[in-house]
Amino acid sequence: MSQGGDNEERDGNDESSLVPVAAAWLAWSGIVAVGLYVTGRRQRLARNALVGGAAIEATLAVAQWMFGEGVVPKVLWRIGGKMDDEQIDRVFGPLKLGVNYAEGEEGRIVVDPKWVADRIVKVKLFDGKVVRMHKLAATSFAVAYEAAVKASGYHPKSVQTFVPRHIRWDRDRELSLHSYGIAVDFDPTLNPWGKKKGVIDGKPEFVREFQKRGWVWGGGWKPKYRDSMHFQMTGVQPASPSPSGSV
Ligand SMILES: [Zn+2]
Repeated sequence: MSQGGDNEERDGNDESSLVPVAAAWLAWSGIVAVGLYVTGRRQRLARNALVGGAAIEATLAVAQWMFGEGVVPKVLWRIGGKMDDEQIDRVFGPLKLGVNYAEGEEGRIVVDPKWVADRIVKVKLFDGKVVRMHKLAATSFAVAYEAAVKASGYHPKSVQTFVPRHIRWDRDRELSLHSYGIAVDFDPTLNPWGKKKGVIDGKPEFVREFQKRGWVWGGGWKPKYRDSMHFQMTGVQPASPSPSGSV
């Protein structure tokens, strides 16, 4: 993971470095919202501009310009749950069938090696495990994972991160966020999908450390969507109900 030497200090937990980022975000959001409003677009679009869409990308652009790439995970922590599929595609790199991925066996996809080389990095976790994740998620994940394990006492044996595939390994469903390297499954056998509770359900501290950093827990979704092994850096509950495998 290379986040740039100059930004190492700012990669810590100094919340104050986000103030100018937030200000830039608000200013830009306001401009976009007013622009949409006065050009006659519907009010709903103007309101959305304040919480997502162009504002997210503008915030990331400004934040990277001011603080370097290292600040990106921190910005995304703040706006984590608000991104939809289209924004995820734009921020983390578009995955388009026939352009940079092909369908594979049993719900897998085969991603262009260049797409992977440009975005996916190896991250060494505090316990020595090495996982592959999106470079924009790597810092955030490593920090959240260490905090979650130490706060809860739950130390997952299996940590599955970058796996290019469809949701529930089903070609007819949308791409999983595992394909972008921004989702993780912990101990699938101990943390089942569906209504059954898993180990993580009994470890609220584990969940909280991730949520504090903008990660979304699949165990918090409605019963028929529940996926308790699954955390994702951002995004909303998937549209596919009736679990038959992990998101
Ligand atoms: Zn998952």
